[in-house]
Amino acid sequence: MTVAASLFPGGVNSPVRAYRAVGGEPPVLVRGAGAFVWDQSGRRYIDYVGAFGPLVLGHAHRAVVEAIEAAAEAGGSFGVTSPGEVRLAELICARMPSVERIRFVNSGTEAAMSALRVARAATVRELVIKFDGGYHGHADSLLVAAGSAAATLSIPDSAGVTRSVAAQTLVANYNDLESVEALLARHSGQVAAVIVEPVAANMGVVAPLPGFLAGLRGLTQSSGALLIFDEVITGFRVAPGGAQELYGVRPDLTVLGKIIGGGLPVGAYGGRADLMDLVAPSGPVYQAGTLSGHPVVMAAGEATLRQLTPEVYASIEHEAARLEAGLRVKGASVARVGSLLTLFFNDRPPRNFREAKASDTAAFARFFHSMLDAGVLLPPSQFEALFVSAAHDRSVIDATIEAIA
Ligand SMILES: *Cc1c(COP(=O)(O)O)cnc(C)c1O
Repeated sequence: MTVAASLFPGGVNSPVRAYRAVGGEPPVLVRGAGAFVWDQSGRRYIDYVGAFGPLVLGHAHRAVVEAIEAAAEAGGSFGVTSPGEVRLAELICARMPSVERIRFVNSGTEAAMSALRVARAATVRELVIKFDGGYHGHADSLLVAAGSAAATLSIPDSAGVTRSVAAQTLVANYNDLESVEALLARHSGQVAAVIVEPVAANMGVVAPLPGFLAGLRGLTQSSGALLIFDEVITGFRVAPGGAQELYGVRPDLTVLGKIIGGGLPVGAYGGRADLMDLVAPSGPVYQAGTLSGHPVVMAAGEATLRQLTPEVYASIEHEAARLEAGLRVKGASVARVGSLLTLFFNDRPPRNFREAKASDTAAFARFFHSMLDAGVLLPPSQFEALFVSAAHDRSVIDATIEAIA
């Protein structure tokens, strides 16, 4: 869109939308319903982008649209706590017991940034360990070795992030406990937190190896650092209680976003009550937001979570497994955790970002475009997950498998 190109840097308001990694111009999408989206000319595509994660029910789910309408009718933001915030928080805390207290914000970026602030305040330590290829939003201290978007554009770190801030972030290898142990030993008594995507989903999908997350729990506990799970993608997607339920590891703090806003802008961080009580006004960690906990967003999130019954998860899992089988093409491998999938042009699923980067991205770009021609819209990068939603029923998955063939 030439007008967009003159208005927005690179024609977009978020970099991966620009199709730089696969070439060509993105379609101009004007409508979505269920598993489908339509472009300006009326052409229909099966959508596996899912707005990059939030749309676990598909586009324009009836219950979500109605909840948004009702909340908008009831007036906007009141500048006081509203019942919708309480209801969504209760749903989240009930399904994710490690989240004893929660604070809503407006993006995953804000949530991750704030969780680090709490960790640093709680431990009175300054360093943070993240993983190569792990993405936690674009806060300065987390834009180090940050996965998909940066990798896609071949920008290892961002310009504009000062060396002194970047130096407070240490980078370990995903699925490599020894790399974490070594950093903790070298910086003994200085590491405030280890932040991790419990299922890495911004280097393509990379599942944690057995014992990796439990190992992180042990290492953080013994070194006095906090364990932060970034469940912005995995939360309420890979299991009713997120990756922490699926793998049975309880973090100190959890970062949320995407699904809990039902497709509207949202983030949240929460965890142990004693830690969250450090947040203003009950404690000294300042963090605020004019539109945080917006009633319309809360309503969309609540409607989404209420739809996510165990039966819905079971059916998404079933269809995602069928898609996984259908995706097994020659010279490629499929990584899948629940409804998150990546087709890597690699002979086996990677265990870390270095292995993910060995994937043949030119082959991915060719696959992407042939699928697009066949009416299937994939995320435009080897390093972004495919998102299967509850609207991707048997017939949609069958049609996708046919397109692959
Ligand atoms: C998307 C994402 C974020 C950032 O959320 P925004 O709402 O885009 O700021 C943080 N962490 C993970 C794991 C994400 O996938």
